[in-house]
Amino acid sequence: MPAKAPKTLSKFRDVQVELDKSGVALFRDAQGVESLIVRSPYAIQYIHSYAEDTPFFLGLAEGRLRGSRCTNSRCGFVYATPRSHCMACTAPTEWLDLPTTGRLHSWTTCYFGSEAFLKETPYNLALVEFDGVGSLLLARLKEAKQSDLYIGLPVEARFEPTPKYSITDVWFVPKAAPKAPGPKPAGRSR
Ligand SMILES: [Zn+2]
Repeated sequence: MPAKAPKTLSKFRDVQVELDKSGVALFRDAQGVESLIVRSPYAIQYIHSYAEDTPFFLGLAEGRLRGSRCTNSRCGFVYATPRSHCMACTAPTEWLDLPTTGRLHSWTTCYFGSEAFLKETPYNLALVEFDGVGSLLLARLKEAKQSDLYIGLPVEARFEPTPKYSITDVWFVPKAAPKAPGPKPAGRSR
């Protein structure tokens, strides 16, 4: 028995539906040209070198945020991100540890994201500012109620316990307010 001929369709969204069903379709374009469309799995292993940014990603795995400081004494600009050379004066930079607490400079709420973030939507992307640092760090802001967010909100970094060596190894949460001093628990005073 001959195989069933593929369905001929002229709208690409219909082709996509047909591919879900049968894995094959004939697409007829506006000029009447027919193209056989097939669907097959495709996966790649992408090998990426962090090169001179390596200490930043190793730092995340140790719970450290590393920024870059311009080595030119007349400049000394501090960046919240890896940067091998200063954008202001082109001098080489050196690594420095950033504070793991900062303030919310600005944020946006994402209702759509790439596949890796779809399960988290809606989520907040924050620009975080640090004392003594001249640029901002972009990261997710978690555990925050939308109504509690404001510019200047104190935030602190959280680090992925099982590092993926990706920028998503760090995110921020609102910094817990210091607990009001209360009576000392019995038996623990010295
Ligand atoms: Zn500089």
